[in-house]
Amino acid sequence: MPTERLINELQSYGVRLVDPRAGADSRRGGAGPSDHKAITIDGMTVMVPVHTAPAFESPYLVEKPDAYGRSRISRDGLVLGEVSFPLQPKFYGLSTADGVPYSKIAVLHGRDVLATTVLQTCIRYQSRTKTCQFCAIGQSLAAGRTIAHKTPAQLAEVAKAAVELDGVRHMVMTTGTPPGKDRGAKILAESAAAVKAAVDLPIQVQCEPPDDDAWFARMSEAGADALGMHLEAVTEPVRARIMPGKAQVSVARYFEAFEAAVPVFGRGQVSTYILAGLGDTREEILDVCDRLTRIGVYPFVVPFVPISGTPLESHPTPSPAFMNAILGPLSGMMIARGLKAIDVKAGCAKCGACSALSTYERQALGQGGCS
Ligand code: SF4
Repeated sequence: MPTERLINELQSYGVRLVDPRAGADSRRGGAGPSDHKAITIDGMTVMVPVHTAPAFESPYLVEKPDAYGRSRISRDGLVLGEVSFPLQPKFYGLSTADGVPYSKIAVLHGRDVLATTVLQTCIRYQSRTKTCQFCAIGQSLAAGRTIAHKTPAQLAEVAKAAVELDGVRHMVMTTGTPPGKDRGAKILAESAAAVKAAVDLPIQVQCEPPDDDAWFARMSEAGADALGMHLEAVTEPVRARIMPGKAQVSVARYFEAFEAAVPVFGRGQVSTYILAGLGDTREEILDVCDRLTRIGVYPFVVPFVPISGTPLESHPTPSPAFMNAILGPLSGMMIARGLKAIDVKAGCAKCGACSALSTYERQALGQGGCS
């Protein structure tokens, strides 16, 4: 099976692990995608659901790793090949002088990405009527796996260690949305400036569109190399149903913000996360991606994965065929417009672990292999 199709299948169905402790700790709760584990297949590191309801019944099984960290993967008993797991990073063993474990400040995503949620609280997460139905930002905080506010000094300390000890190559800074019109841009700018003063590490910042487009230049001047503003769903009815609070910021406002941000960060350095499988059709997603790619925004389309404990925990994942029908044409559209994951300086589009999109790109460019 071609690698990109296998990744679609694994991200839709998840995997069962014979040894749940294999590799780095899995992500549970937190902002954005969760309940995943990083697995390396055919040279690509991807996030695969392991703690979700579909994963417990997945036809895919990963055996216990051998002495070299390699595991056999099978489907319905038929061995398909080998996978491996990125190791637990060394910086997880350290703590700040005041006793906060580094792993509560930032974590490893994929193979070489340092990721943090600067503010683990969000104005959208206060009540069930406003919360984004897929989000678990409060769960890891309630479970004591993270702290509510990571200071610029803490982030700089952890980023320096992650680069020096584990060879981390870029950083993602997301944030819950604080009260106030800048939507978190100020705190992201302060955090990026502190990290850049400590270590040379490309940074993507992620926030809702701020009230004032001047924040894009401020974040860039502070040290942010790339920006993510995440639509999540692309049509207003789906947005209103799935994320009633965040949907108050319209798709039209997102497009205004994209138009203002691309000249600051550059073509392909502004991206948006789109969750396929929440109700938008293939055509609706591809139409919005057409508009985004025309203005130089990288649409990072990922399969929706339900997170345990959220209102959408029983919502189905999109089928591999649905993802294939989007990612195939999308990768061609993006290459035709000069947008490639490999050219992104930092962030989710560069990491690519939550989607098979960059594998489709590699195939289309003739750089991929088949397993
Ligand atoms: S694509 Fe983004 S959210 Fe997914 S593992 Fe990579 S950095 Fe994390």
